[in-house]
Amino acid sequence: MPQEYRMILKHVDQAGYTPDLECYVRHGGYQTLRKAVALKPVTTAEGKTESGPEQIRKEVMLSGLRGRGGAGFSCGLKWSFVDRKSGKPIYLICNADESEPGTFKDRQIIYKDPHQLIEGMIISSYANDVHLAFIYIRGEFAEGAKILNRALAEARAAGYLGQNILGSGYDLEIYVHRGAGAYICGEETGLIESLEGKRPYPRIKPPYFPAVLGLYQCPTIVNNVETLCAVKHIVEMGGAAYARLGTPNNTGTRIVSLSGHVRRPGYYEIEVGKVTLGELIFHENFGQGLRPGRTLKAVIPGGSSAKVFKAGEKITLRRKRPDGSTSVQEMDLLDLPYDFDTIAAAGSMSGSGAIIVMDDTADMVAALANLAEFYAHESCGQCTPCREGALWMSKILHRMDTGRGRAGDPAQLLHLAQNIQGRTVCAFGEACSWPVLSFVSKFREDFEARGGGPAPKNS
Ligand code: SF4
Repeated sequence: MPQEYRMILKHVDQAGYTPDLECYVRHGGYQTLRKAVALKPVTTAEGKTESGPEQIRKEVMLSGLRGRGGAGFSCGLKWSFVDRKSGKPIYLICNADESEPGTFKDRQIIYKDPHQLIEGMIISSYANDVHLAFIYIRGEFAEGAKILNRALAEARAAGYLGQNILGSGYDLEIYVHRGAGAYICGEETGLIESLEGKRPYPRIKPPYFPAVLGLYQCPTIVNNVETLCAVKHIVEMGGAAYARLGTPNNTGTRIVSLSGHVRRPGYYEIEVGKVTLGELIFHENFGQGLRPGRTLKAVIPGGSSAKVFKAGEKITLRRKRPDGSTSVQEMDLLDLPYDFDTIAAAGSMSGSGAIIVMDDTADMVAALANLAEFYAHESCGQCTPCREGALWMSKILHRMDTGRGRAGDPAQLLHLAQNIQGRTVCAFGEACSWPVLSFVSKFREDFEARGGGPAPKNS
């Protein structure tokens, strides 16, 4: 029977569990940090001496952990790119911006189990020789920032943070930095610009890969809240044990935010790839299905920027084989295992793990108009295709939604979206164009019916 596997959320929502240090320690908190800073150098089979931090980095690599913020990039690999020979300080930033519509998982950890995040950050900082770390939190999470600051003060007073942590000789300070509520600050280089006190214009990569030229032009690691919590569990259980959870290349657990037209919306922690999209929506342990009498219309599988799936559509999975050829497999939408690779092979992405369910009452034009308005508002304005295109798409959709659609509008929307994606500084170009491309092409009849009409010649 498909069910939750609560590891990071183990204590979240448990009766009597509170976000203070005393409760966290009573439940075994900070024991993994003790273990981490006490690791002695070991000699490997190749005769190389490996320090404690190197051992932790190796375990994280072995675990196969992939970032839980959206991109799903290997955490161990990201850490391995850090320029450790530059002589400059290395910084760690926890990305707690959580702005993707549909996503509401990181804030649960921050509000209900903040010390778990702090312990994960201290271990990750120790592993990467970081002595100054930041939690960049979304401006709207005022309460979250307050909780984190209180937890940091508790950790500092108890010797888990600050000078000579647990007598190990290791020093670390962590500061909470509140953003001003801009979606683009979830993009790591935009976040870094903001942390430096500037407008959050994402940087051009290359050369500005944070692992080499990040905060203050120093090597910087940016990891998501859930990712940093997972590091604590990897060090606790070992990388190999963590890798046995989930499925190959999609290891461990991840927290799914389920919202929309389901009877039991909420956040659920699952083993990656062990639960299907259909089970997440319909099973009694998860969403419990749709409202009585309703049928499924659409599913957005990974936050509002992910391409939408149409209910009933046959999904074609395209996967690259190691020899470079492509395998093709047909599958029902609801049978797709919920993991990074399957959802990507199906033509969308699992992103930040936010599943938005729409039943047959959903107005696709209104829904897309709402999303497009959000993206038009959140474009940082640095590049023309995104700044102008996102606004045009929003205006057209608003017109269609208010009964003033023109012939050719659906075609015009597709044309605009196609000319934004791949032509911008950051992935926001895709974030704003993918919903338009997928909504309009998969629900063309809904858009044609809103006064759009067929496209005139030369539109
Ligand atoms: Fe800014 Fe959009 Fe360009 Fe990203 S794609 S840098 S959000 S204008």
